[in-house]
Amino acid sequence: MKIIEVIPHVLQYKLPKNQCFSYSQAWYDNRTITVVEILTDEGITGWGEAFGPAFVHKKIIEDIYKPLIIGKDPFDNEVIWETLYNCLQDHGQKGVVIEAISAIDIALWDIKGKYIKLPIYKLLGGSFRDELRAYATGFYHRNVKNQTKELVDEAYKYINEGFKALKIKIGFGIEDDIKNVKAIREAIGDDIKIMVDANHAYNANDAIKVGKRIEEFDIFWFEEPVPPEDKNGYIEVKNNINIPIAGGEAEFTRYGFNDLINRRCIDIVQPDVCVMGGITEFKKVISLASIQNIQCYPHIWGSSIALATGIQIGFSLPNFPNCLYPPAVMLELDRTPNIFREELSTIPFAFENGIIKRNNRPGLGININRELIDRYTIG
Ligand code: MG
Repeated sequence: MKIIEVIPHVLQYKLPKNQCFSYSQAWYDNRTITVVEILTDEGITGWGEAFGPAFVHKKIIEDIYKPLIIGKDPFDNEVIWETLYNCLQDHGQKGVVIEAISAIDIALWDIKGKYIKLPIYKLLGGSFRDELRAYATGFYHRNVKNQTKELVDEAYKYINEGFKALKIKIGFGIEDDIKNVKAIREAIGDDIKIMVDANHAYNANDAIKVGKRIEEFDIFWFEEPVPPEDKNGYIEVKNNINIPIAGGEAEFTRYGFNDLINRRCIDIVQPDVCVMGGITEFKKVISLASIQNIQCYPHIWGSSIALATGIQIGFSLPNFPNCLYPPAVMLELDRTPNIFREELSTIPFAFENGIIKRNNRPGLGININRELIDRYTIG
């Protein structure tokens, strides 16, 4: 089998005013994604996605990566990964060049699965579980009168939908964060897991202040307390608060994760397969994490392709350390309105009470909605 065409698509739509939201770094007023389509001489098409600046991904893929992979066999994904990484190694060991590799790599795994008619988790060595429980990511801030009340109402909504774990956005100021986490915990009781995510809004000193004051609310993890480059800050926060520290969505490749994991900056690692180098590289990061027994909860953000890839990875993640009753792998499920997540695949994701069962569909297990691509392509 040979690759005959590589097409990056940039898709975008404006969010209606009442759906605009912010996290600790910026406001979102649109949805923009990079989707990569790879065609083969066998008539099989694979799909991948990169998270990040879409027009930059498109340029890198068209000008640099595409000429290197036309004519190659999609089953040579390791060779292709190393070829793409090495060609820009001196210019980009992290960031957009790795995100662009991620999209290509995911599409290759989709092709491989479709070719041999097996889901990707089978190609990765099989599934460790029959179902995956998702946690609800939400609690972004919106332009509303009473933010705290909105957030508490949002928590009730997810609990009514069957979710048992909720991830709350913080990083909006120490007092504001504490007020919101306290209000949500007091409203929903003790049985639901709460995680917090600062998206690296704090330095170590302030992250410790926040952490110490929310410890009493039984926080399952504190995600990205400090900027991704600040490894010493991670260690300082981890050593000074009694909440597990999570991070990794802004880290890249086994080389980047090696530092984060081996220095024990984190208790929980969160690689994003559409960011850090794709499925081929994800497997290597999991090997590193397993050596140190650092739990992995994959970061997932984006369209149906990102979610489907995260699901395949979630089934294939081993339990480490092994035990009779290992902690469940939790799947991140963004609950903000997103047409690309809900409609890019014509096969809906069958979540029931926050749980998705394993299926045997080949590749990523989705079917791309071409009409949606035509409607929202801007480049
Ligand atoms: Mg996060």
